Amino acid sequence: AALRELLLSRITDVPDYPQPGVVFKDITPLLADAAAFGALTDALAELCVRHRADKIAGLEARGFILAAPAAIRAGVGFVPVRKAGKLPGATLGQTYDLEYGRAEIEIHADALEPGDRVLVIDDVLATGGTADASLQLVRRAGAEVAGLAVLLELGFLEGRKRLEAGLKGAPLEAL
Ligand code: IMP
Repeated sequence: AALRELLLSRITDVPDYPQPGVVFKDITPLLADAAAFGALTDALAELCVRHRADKIAGLEARGFILAAPAAIRAGVGFVPVRKAGKLPGATLGQTYDLEYGRAEIEIHADALEPGDRVLVIDDVLATGGTADASLQLVRRAGAEVAGLAVLLELGFLEGRKRLEAGLKGAPLEAL
């Protein structure tokens, strides 16, 4: 409960960003606070251990910022899930629907192997489209989803409901 209060106190609302009517949750004040960022990193690393993950996958771009230090703290490797066209090797891609249009994310085809248990980390869960696509990529790359962890879940967008099928029983942890 103390962790939750600390984290929430360092996330600010930015009205009308990126477009009118949207309230954007800005995590940069949290990143700038060493105690809060450290506590978040510890909590994510604990989730990695609790769910017996041996890899952490981070979603570009803010997911990278949270996932990389958590991977180091937990003593597991980090795997980037990137916007299409950014990874140099052979990739697997997954497209998904946005409010307007479509997006695609990619993972290196050889980044994971059968038997790997992957904790997927992103900063904010909104509609769940990005997270859902990432879970599919992890499985298509041959690994198992140990869980999905986010800093902040925007409950009113019902991403948790959208992810129910894609999680296949794996835990969704919102700090
Ligand atoms: P979704 O696919 O609709 O769940 O959107 C989630 C993605 O959009 C995540 O990768 C987030 O980084 C980003 N996102 C959506 N809303 C916010 C926000 O309010 N603050 C920060 N990132 C957001």
